[in-house]
Amino acid sequence: MLDQYGRKIEYLRISVTDRCNLRCRYCMPEEGVELLQHSQILSYDEIKRIVKICAKLGISRIKLTGGEPLVRKGLSSLLESLKSIEGIEEVTLTTNGVLLKSQIEELVKAGLSAVNISLDTLDRNQYKKLTRKDQLEEALQGLEEALKYPQLNVKVNCVTMLGENDDQWVKLAALAKEKPVDVRFIEMMPIGIGQSDPHGSQEIVYRSLKEAYECGKVLSGKFGNGPAMYMQFPGFKGKIGFISAISHQFCDSCNRIRLTADGFLKPCLQYSCGRDLRECLRSGRSDEEIFGIIKETIYTKPRSHQFKNSENEGLVCETKQIEKRRMSSIGG
Ligand code: SAM
Ligand code: SF4
Repeated sequence: MLDQYGRKIEYLRISVTDRCNLRCRYCMPEEGVELLQHSQILSYDEIKRIVKICAKLGISRIKLTGGEPLVRKGLSSLLESLKSIEGIEEVTLTTNGVLLKSQIEELVKAGLSAVNISLDTLDRNQYKKLTRKDQLEEALQGLEEALKYPQLNVKVNCVTMLGENDDQWVKLAALAKEKPVDVRFIEMMPIGIGQSDPHGSQEIVYRSLKEAYECGKVLSGKFGNGPAMYMQFPGFKGKIGFISAISHQFCDSCNRIRLTADGFLKPCLQYSCGRDLRECLRSGRSDEEIFGIIKETIYTKPRSHQFKNSENEGLVCETKQIEKRRMSSIGG
């Protein structure tokens, strides 16, 4: 359906858990993370019911995310049942890759068509520092295993942080040179404990890639669900993408809504507005009533984020309160 600004909303990101086997510095604190109780998290049946209603409103693509989605048991069974819902064309996954090797076969069998693997560095010590876990090898094995399935669209996502992983940008891009994988560089957003870093902007990353690999050619056309801008570098098997919410705001073409692990429907990443669908489900509301609630939430999606004004934290923007949740509970 269209929202109040005429944007076609067709993509739903579902966080299936707020738990994670890593502790990326910009996403989760090392200790003292307050986690949801099992009963607070939507059951798979509840997720399916919401997706069935969303499909009637024009949602056709789903991304499973987290926390780390692969730590939740039975994810492939959820994936398979979501894929069978009328109107759902594609179900994809975002993961840190650590548990991917052992699960990829059943996920592909269940109908997974694309996977994004988050990888901010190829250096073991840096990985340990950034994620607080020594599991680079497992993540790389997950990537290799995913690449064994030619029908699977595989992407690597790197959050750019000058002074932390800038020595890795060219090396990560080399994955796209050597393998049929798209590598995307993501500007950090000031959400949760993440801090926007103007020194890791698209321009700065592109400059270092250009020095190493010559100029890239900007590609037109749509590749995947989102707002990435893609480039083709000479001789590369995969594409290089940039997701630059700060330096190249893309709210005008935003097509997504988000469902948190505890069932809160968020129309915009930056604001805390939305509706508690878990409460709706558990208080016995009918499908028709929930349909109306989701429709209204989509329709009233805020026009744009105001990340550049994040020093205004706590202020009300567009009558919406700034989101206080961590990225791990929203799902990225
Ligand atoms: N654990 C999975 C993973 O890492 O892919 C899925 C959840 S994670 C929250 C989804 C994505 O959000 C990851 O690519 C992560 O790097 C990204 N992310 C987390 N915090 C961020 C921030 N403040 N700004 C931009 N991206 C962020
Ligand atoms: Fe976990 Fe993903 Fe957050 Fe890293 S970015 S702590 S892997 S949820």
